Amino acid sequence: MKTKLTIDEFRLMVEAANKTIQSRAEEFSKLDAALGDGDHGEAMSTAFGVIEKSSKTGENFRKMLGDMGFGVMLETSGSTSTLLGAFLLGMSEGAPTTSEIDAEGLKRMFRSGLDGVKKNTRALVGDKTIMDALIPAVEAMEATKGEDVKAVLEAGAKAASEGAEATKDMIAKLGRARNLGEKTLGHVDAGATSWASIFDSFAKAL
Ligand SMILES: [Mg+2]
Repeated sequence: MKTKLTIDEFRLMVEAANKTIQSRAEEFSKLDAALGDGDHGEAMSTAFGVIEKSSKTGENFRKMLGDMGFGVMLETSGSTSTLLGAFLLGMSEGAPTTSEIDAEGLKRMFRSGLDGVKKNTRALVGDKTIMDALIPAVEAMEATKGEDVKAVLEAGAKAASEGAEATKDMIAKLGRARNLGEKTLGHVDAGATSWASIFDSFAKAL
């Protein structure tokens, strides 16, 4: 059992997520093109490149996540980077000023990230957005018993991917996709899919 996650392990998780985002960017854009403007892959790959770059120097979790959040906010623009920035700055607020974190700390950090995103969107589960991946992921992490940090990340990954898959049967209620109404049925949401891939990469990187 792994009871502590180090800051260097977290940096490896971010690297793994960035690799996934870069390699799936085209797929994310195709998903977005069915319901939106088709720029989601490019927006994610640009933003995540900056996020990985900004993750290298902070000496404790709070500082590192703050650098990542400010980095993506200052160097990129658009709704994708705003939401990623809000998530990372929220995580930073809930993170310790140490270079190791335990399962409870990890849950607190991700909950705080979700709270940060909530300040920027009114979307809830069922609206066919990133929140369909993010909210269940954080709730599943919090519901995980025991001290194993890997189990917490794996629970988050599983819930995020199920949540993203579930967007296929939803009608978009917010954003540009809302105008398409029932035509959005049968398509997964690009943002929920890309955010689920982040959680999946995090879990697999350990
Ligand atoms: Mg778009």
